[in-house]
Amino acid sequence: MVGSLAHFQRVNIEITNVCNLRCSFCAPSARPPQRLSVPAFRGLAEQLAGLTDEVVLHVLGEPLTHPDLAGILAAAAAVGLPVHVVSNGVLLAAEPAELMLQPIVRQVSVSLQSAADGLPEAGFAEYLERVLAFCDRAASQRPDLYLNLRLWGAQGPYTGIDDVRLAERLSQHFGRDLRSLQVDVRRRKNVPLRGRQYLHFDSRFTWPRLDLPEGNAAGTCHGLSGHFGILADGRVVPCCLDADGVLALGNAFTTPLREILQSERAQRLRAGFAVGRRVEALCRRCSFVERFSRQRASAKPQGHGEGRRGHGEGRCQQLAQDPPQRDPEVAR
Ligand code: SF4
Ligand code: SF4
Repeated sequence: MVGSLAHFQRVNIEITNVCNLRCSFCAPSARPPQRLSVPAFRGLAEQLAGLTDEVVLHVLGEPLTHPDLAGILAAAAAVGLPVHVVSNGVLLAAEPAELMLQPIVRQVSVSLQSAADGLPEAGFAEYLERVLAFCDRAASQRPDLYLNLRLWGAQGPYTGIDDVRLAERLSQHFGRDLRSLQVDVRRRKNVPLRGRQYLHFDSRFTWPRLDLPEGNAAGTCHGLSGHFGILADGRVVPCCLDADGVLALGNAFTTPLREILQSERAQRLRAGFAVGRRVEALCRRCSFVERFSRQRASAKPQGHGEGRRGHGEGRCQQLAQDPPQRDPEVAR
Protein backbone atom coordinates (compact mmCIF):
# COMPACT_ATOMS: atom_id res chain seq x y z
CA MET A 1 0.00 0.00 0.00
CA VAL A 2 1.24 3.47 -0.80
CA GLY A 3 1.11 5.58 2.35
CA SER A 4 2.17 9.16 2.96
CA LEU A 5 5.78 10.08 2.39
CA ALA A 6 7.94 12.61 4.12
CA HIS A 7 8.75 15.80 2.28
CA PHE A 8 12.27 15.65 0.85
CA GLN A 9 14.84 18.42 1.01
CA ARG A 10 16.16 17.63 -2.41
CA VAL A 11 16.04 15.15 -5.22
CA ASN A 12 19.06 14.68 -7.45
CA ILE A 13 18.11 14.28 -11.08
CA GLU A 14 20.78 13.21 -13.49
CA ILE A 15 19.60 14.89 -16.70
CA THR A 16 22.68 13.43 -18.40
CA ASN A 17 25.50 11.12 -17.36
CA VAL A 18 27.71 12.58 -20.09
CA CYS A 19 30.52 14.80 -18.90
CA ASN A 20 32.96 17.06 -20.73
CA LEU A 21 35.72 16.32 -18.18
CA ARG A 22 37.45 13.15 -17.02
CA CYS A 23 38.34 13.87 -13.43
CA SER A 24 40.67 11.45 -11.72
CA PHE A 25 38.32 11.26 -8.72
CA CYS A 26 35.12 10.59 -10.68
CA ALA A 27 33.13 7.44 -9.97
CA PRO A 28 33.91 4.58 -12.33
CA SER A 29 30.62 3.86 -14.09
CA ALA A 30 29.75 1.20 -16.62
CA ARG A 31 26.53 2.88 -17.74
CA PRO A 32 26.14 3.87 -21.41
CA PRO A 33 25.77 7.61 -22.17
CA GLN A 34 22.20 8.68 -21.57
CA ARG A 35 20.09 11.85 -21.33
CA LEU A 36 16.69 12.60 -19.92
CA SER A 37 14.35 13.97 -22.56
CA VAL A 38 12.34 17.07 -21.71
CA PRO A 39 9.03 15.12 -21.66
CA ALA A 40 10.60 12.54 -19.33
CA PHE A 41 11.87 15.31 -17.05
CA ARG A 42 8.46 16.98 -17.15
CA GLY A 43 6.82 13.75 -16.01
CA LEU A 44 9.21 13.58 -13.06
CA ALA A 45 8.89 17.27 -12.21
CA GLU A 46 5.11 16.98 -12.05
CA GLN A 47 5.43 14.17 -9.52
CA LEU A 48 8.13 15.93 -7.55
CA ALA A 49 6.50 19.35 -7.24
CA GLY A 50 4.76 18.51 -3.97
CA LEU A 51 7.38 16.05 -2.77
CA THR A 52 10.62 18.03 -2.51
CA ASP A 53 11.94 21.51 -1.80
CA GLU A 54 14.16 21.45 -4.88
CA VAL A 55 15.79 19.33 -7.54
CA VAL A 56 19.55 19.21 -7.95
CA LEU A 57 20.61 18.61 -11.52
CA HIS A 58 23.38 16.12 -10.99
CA VAL A 59 24.50 12.67 -10.00
CA LEU A 60 27.15 12.05 -12.61
CA GLY A 61 27.59 14.06 -15.82
CA GLU A 62 27.64 17.74 -16.63
CA PRO A 63 24.16 19.29 -16.86
CA LEU A 64 25.30 22.11 -19.14
CA THR A 65 26.02 19.53 -21.87
CA HIS A 66 22.30 18.76 -22.09
CA PRO A 67 21.12 19.98 -25.51
CA ASP A 68 17.79 21.24 -24.18
CA LEU A 69 18.61 22.64 -20.77
CA ALA A 70 16.24 25.52 -21.52
CA GLY A 71 13.41 22.99 -21.93
CA ILE A 72 14.38 21.26 -18.66
CA LEU A 73 14.31 24.56 -16.75
CA ALA A 74 11.02 25.55 -18.39
CA ALA A 75 9.48 22.23 -17.27
CA ALA A 76 10.66 22.85 -13.70
CA ALA A 77 9.34 26.42 -13.82
CA ALA A 78 5.96 25.22 -15.10
CA VAL A 79 5.39 23.34 -11.83
CA GLY A 80 7.26 25.81 -9.59
CA LEU A 81 10.07 23.39 -8.73
CA PRO A 82 13.27 25.24 -7.70
CA VAL A 83 16.46 24.02 -9.36
CA HIS A 84 20.00 23.76 -8.07
CA VAL A 85 22.51 23.30 -10.88
CA VAL A 86 25.84 21.65 -10.10
CA SER A 87 28.34 22.24 -12.85
CA ASN A 88 32.04 22.06 -13.46
CA GLY A 89 31.56 25.50 -15.04
CA VAL A 90 33.55 24.76 -18.19
CA LEU A 91 30.58 25.63 -20.41
CA LEU A 92 29.51 28.66 -18.41
CA ALA A 93 29.71 30.93 -21.45
CA ALA A 94 27.06 33.33 -22.72
CA GLU A 95 23.97 31.20 -23.36
CA PRO A 96 24.26 28.69 -20.50
CA ALA A 97 25.09 31.57 -18.15
CA GLU A 98 21.87 33.25 -19.20
CA LEU A 99 19.96 30.06 -18.37
CA MET A 100 21.59 29.85 -14.96
CA LEU A 101 20.18 33.28 -14.17
CA GLN A 102 16.56 32.28 -14.79
CA PRO A 103 14.29 32.81 -11.79
CA ILE A 104 13.61 29.07 -11.31
CA VAL A 105 17.32 28.47 -10.58
CA ARG A 106 17.75 28.82 -6.84
CA GLN A 107 21.39 27.84 -6.56
CA VAL A 108 24.40 27.26 -8.79
CA SER A 109 27.43 25.34 -7.56
CA VAL A 110 30.59 25.46 -9.61
CA SER A 111 33.12 22.73 -8.88
CA LEU A 112 36.47 24.45 -9.26
CA GLN A 113 38.29 21.28 -8.18
CA SER A 114 36.88 19.39 -11.16
CA ALA A 115 38.16 21.94 -13.66
CA ALA A 116 41.48 22.13 -11.85
CA ASP A 117 41.79 18.36 -12.21
CA GLY A 118 40.33 17.93 -15.68
CA LEU A 119 41.55 20.96 -17.64
CA PRO A 120 45.07 21.63 -18.90
CA GLU A 121 46.84 24.26 -16.81
CA ALA A 122 46.72 26.88 -19.55
CA GLY A 123 42.97 26.42 -19.93
CA PHE A 124 42.31 26.87 -16.22
CA ALA A 125 43.15 30.59 -16.15
CA GLU A 126 40.72 31.30 -18.97
CA TYR A 127 38.12 29.09 -17.32
CA LEU A 128 38.46 30.95 -14.05
CA GLU A 129 37.87 34.29 -15.74
CA ARG A 130 34.68 32.88 -17.25
CA VAL A 131 33.47 31.71 -13.87
CA LEU A 132 34.30 35.05 -12.25
CA ALA A 133 32.49 36.91 -15.03
CA PHE A 134 29.46 34.74 -14.25
CA CYS A 135 29.76 35.59 -10.54
CA ASP A 136 29.72 39.30 -11.41
CA ARG A 137 26.73 38.88 -13.67
CA ALA A 138 24.87 36.91 -11.04
CA ALA A 139 25.67 39.54 -8.40
CA SER A 140 24.12 42.27 -10.50
CA GLN A 141 21.23 40.41 -12.20
CA ARG A 142 20.34 37.79 -9.58
CA PRO A 143 21.56 38.92 -6.16
CA ASP A 144 19.12 36.39 -4.64
CA LEU A 145 20.87 33.44 -6.36
CA TYR A 146 23.00 31.26 -4.08
CA LEU A 147 26.33 30.64 -5.74
CA ASN A 148 28.96 28.29 -4.37
CA LEU A 149 32.46 27.99 -5.74
CA ARG A 150 33.51 24.55 -4.60
CA LEU A 151 36.88 23.33 -3.55
CA TRP A 152 36.31 19.77 -2.42
CA GLY A 153 39.79 18.40 -2.20
CA ALA A 154 40.54 18.50 1.53
CA GLN A 155 42.67 15.54 2.61
CA GLY A 156 42.32 16.24 6.31
CA PRO A 157 40.17 18.37 8.61
CA TYR A 158 41.92 21.63 7.73
CA THR A 159 42.00 23.04 4.25
CA GLY A 160 42.40 26.24 2.28
CA ILE A 161 43.16 27.30 -1.29
CA ASP A 162 46.28 25.27 -2.11
CA ASP A 163 46.85 26.78 -5.53
CA VAL A 164 48.63 30.09 -4.96
CA ARG A 165 47.53 31.65 -8.24
CA LEU A 166 43.92 30.70 -7.63
CA ALA A 167 44.07 32.16 -4.10
CA GLU A 168 45.54 35.39 -5.46
CA ARG A 169 43.03 35.74 -8.26
CA LEU A 170 40.05 35.06 -6.01
CA SER A 171 41.39 37.46 -3.37
CA GLN A 172 41.82 40.16 -5.98
CA HIS A 173 38.40 39.59 -7.51
CA PHE A 174 36.39 39.50 -4.31
CA GLY A 175 38.46 42.10 -2.48
CA ARG A 176 39.42 39.96 0.50
CA ASP A 177 42.58 38.14 1.38
CA LEU A 178 41.93 34.42 0.95
CA ARG A 179 45.56 33.38 0.61
CA SER A 180 46.12 32.12 4.14
CA LEU A 181 42.57 30.89 4.69
CA GLN A 182 42.34 27.78 6.92
CA VAL A 183 38.97 26.12 7.25
CA ASP A 184 38.12 23.25 9.57
CA VAL A 185 35.68 21.36 7.36
CA ARG A 186 34.30 19.43 10.32
CA ARG A 187 32.77 22.64 11.61
CA ARG A 188 32.42 25.04 8.76
CA LYS A 189 32.42 24.68 5.01
CA ASN A 190 31.39 28.00 3.56
CA VAL A 191 33.42 31.18 3.44
CA PRO A 192 31.42 34.24 2.33
CA LEU A 193 32.74 36.06 -0.72
CA ARG A 194 30.00 38.62 -1.26
CA GLY A 195 26.21 38.63 -0.94
CA ARG A 196 25.06 35.07 -1.48
CA GLN A 197 28.28 33.95 -3.09
CA TYR A 198 30.54 31.60 -1.14
CA LEU A 199 33.63 29.48 -1.34
CA HIS A 200 32.61 25.99 -0.28
CA PHE A 201 35.16 23.53 1.05
CA ASP A 202 34.81 19.82 1.63
CA SER A 203 36.85 16.63 1.76
CA ARG A 204 37.43 14.00 -0.83
CA PHE A 205 35.86 10.66 -0.15
CA THR A 206 35.86 7.12 -1.44
CA TRP A 207 32.90 6.10 -3.55
CA PRO A 208 31.10 3.11 -2.03
CA ARG A 209 31.65 -0.08 -4.03
CA LEU A 210 30.64 -3.66 -3.41
CA ASP A 211 34.24 -4.86 -3.84
CA LEU A 212 35.46 -2.76 -0.89
CA PRO A 213 35.85 -4.44 2.51
CA GLU A 214 32.66 -4.52 4.52
CA GLY A 215 32.48 -1.94 7.32
CA ASN A 216 30.36 -1.49 10.39
CA ALA A 217 26.66 -2.34 10.12
CA ALA A 218 25.82 0.52 12.48
CA GLY A 219 25.27 3.92 10.98
CA THR A 220 22.66 6.15 9.50
CA CYS A 221 22.21 8.61 6.67
CA HIS A 222 19.47 10.72 5.15
CA GLY A 223 19.11 8.62 2.01
CA LEU A 224 15.34 8.20 1.40
CA SER A 225 14.37 10.45 4.29
CA GLY A 226 15.97 13.75 3.26
CA HIS A 227 16.74 13.03 -0.35
CA PHE A 228 17.00 10.48 -3.13
CA GLY A 229 18.22 10.41 -6.71
CA ILE A 230 17.02 9.56 -10.20
CA LEU A 231 19.57 8.38 -12.75
CA ALA A 232 19.37 9.31 -16.43
CA ASP A 233 18.01 5.82 -17.22
CA GLY A 234 15.09 6.41 -14.86
CA ARG A 235 16.30 4.24 -11.97
CA VAL A 236 15.57 5.63 -8.54
CA VAL A 237 18.39 5.40 -5.99
CA PRO A 238 18.49 6.36 -2.31
CA CYS A 239 21.41 8.74 -2.66
CA CYS A 240 23.75 10.39 -5.12
CA LEU A 241 26.65 8.15 -4.09
CA ASP A 242 24.98 5.20 -5.77
CA ALA A 243 26.21 6.29 -9.18
CA ASP A 244 25.76 2.87 -10.77
CA GLY A 245 22.34 2.08 -9.38
CA VAL A 246 23.41 -0.79 -7.12
CA LEU A 247 20.58 0.14 -4.75
CA ALA A 248 18.02 0.79 -7.51
CA LEU A 249 14.51 0.76 -6.08
CA GLY A 250 12.56 0.84 -9.34
CA ASN A 251 12.35 2.76 -12.58
CA ALA A 252 10.56 6.12 -12.64
CA PHE A 253 9.86 5.77 -16.38
CA THR A 254 7.52 2.88 -15.69
CA THR A 255 6.39 3.21 -12.07
CA PRO A 256 5.07 6.22 -10.15
CA LEU A 257 7.69 7.70 -7.84
CA ARG A 258 5.56 7.41 -4.72
CA GLU A 259 5.15 3.71 -5.34
CA ILE A 260 8.90 3.23 -5.79
CA LEU A 261 9.64 5.18 -2.63
CA GLN A 262 7.30 2.90 -0.70
CA SER A 263 8.68 -0.32 -2.18
CA GLU A 264 9.75 -3.07 0.17
CA ARG A 265 13.45 -2.41 -0.39
CA ALA A 266 13.01 1.32 0.19
CA GLN A 267 11.07 0.75 3.40
CA ARG A 268 13.68 -1.70 4.69
CA LEU A 269 16.50 0.73 3.98
CA ARG A 270 14.68 3.65 5.60
CA ALA A 271 13.65 1.62 8.64
CA GLY A 272 17.26 0.47 9.08
CA PHE A 273 18.62 4.01 9.03
CA ALA A 274 15.92 5.07 11.50
CA VAL A 275 17.39 2.67 14.07
CA GLY A 276 21.03 3.22 13.09
CA ARG A 277 21.46 0.16 10.91
CA ARG A 278 22.87 -0.09 7.39
CA VAL A 279 20.89 -2.92 5.91
CA GLU A 280 22.35 -2.76 2.39
CA ALA A 281 25.76 -4.20 1.53
CA LEU A 282 26.71 -1.02 -0.36
CA CYS A 283 25.86 1.13 2.66
CA ARG A 284 28.14 -1.02 4.83
CA ARG A 285 30.92 -0.05 2.43
CA CYS A 286 30.09 3.64 2.45
CA SER A 287 32.63 5.67 4.38
CA PHE A 288 30.60 8.81 3.99
CA VAL A 289 28.23 7.55 6.69
CA GLU A 290 31.12 7.31 9.11
CA ARG A 291 32.11 10.87 8.35
CA PHE A 292 28.57 12.02 8.93
CA SER A 293 28.43 10.24 12.28
CA ARG A 294 31.77 11.75 13.33
CA GLN A 295 30.59 15.19 12.35
CA ARG A 296 27.43 14.83 14.38
CA ALA A 297 29.32 13.54 17.36
CA SER A 298 31.90 16.32 17.25
CA ALA A 299 29.39 19.05 16.52
CA LYS A 300 26.95 18.31 19.31
CA PRO A 301 28.86 19.14 22.48
CA GLN A 302 29.95 22.47 21.09
CA GLY A 303 26.50 23.52 20.10
CA HIS A 304 27.31 23.97 16.46
CA GLY A 305 23.93 23.91 14.79
CA GLU A 306 24.75 23.06 11.22
CA GLY A 307 21.31 23.64 9.81
CA ARG A 308 19.74 21.16 7.44
CA ARG A 309 22.72 19.06 6.73
CA GLY A 310 22.15 16.31 4.20
CA HIS A 311 24.45 13.33 4.38
CA GLY A 312 25.22 13.43 0.75
CA GLU A 313 27.67 16.24 0.60
CA GLY A 314 30.36 13.84 -0.47
CA ARG A 315 30.07 11.83 -3.67
CA CYS A 316 31.19 12.96 -7.07
CA GLN A 317 33.52 15.76 -6.23
CA GLN A 318 31.45 17.94 -8.48
CA LEU A 319 28.12 17.04 -6.98
CA ALA A 320 26.79 19.51 -4.68
CA GLN A 321 23.78 18.65 -2.88
CA ASP A 322 23.92 21.15 -0.11
CA PRO A 323 20.76 22.98 0.61
CA PRO A 324 20.92 26.60 -0.49
CA GLN A 325 22.79 28.82 1.92
CA ARG A 326 19.94 31.05 2.87
CA ASP A 327 22.06 33.47 4.79
CA PRO A 328 25.56 33.73 6.16
CA GLU A 329 24.40 32.68 9.64
CA VAL A 330 23.65 29.17 8.47
CA ALA A 331 26.76 29.01 6.35
CA ARG A 332 28.74 25.99 7.38
S1 SF4 B 1 33.81 14.33 -11.20
FE1 SF4 B 1 32.10 15.49 -12.03
S2 SF4 B 1 33.09 16.96 -13.46
FE2 SF4 B 1 34.56 15.34 -13.07
S3 SF4 B 1 34.26 13.82 -14.68
FE3 SF4 B 1 32.97 13.20 -12.95
S4 SF4 B 1 30.97 14.10 -13.38
FE4 SF4 B 1 32.46 15.17 -14.67
S1 SF4 C 1 24.84 4.85 3.39
FE1 SF4 C 1 26.03 5.63 1.62
S2 SF4 C 1 25.42 4.30 -0.06
FE2 SF4 C 1 23.91 3.99 1.56
S3 SF4 C 1 22.23 5.40 1.08
FE3 SF4 C 1 23.62 6.49 2.48
S4 SF4 C 1 25.09 7.60 1.18
FE4 SF4 C 1 24.06 6.06 -0.08
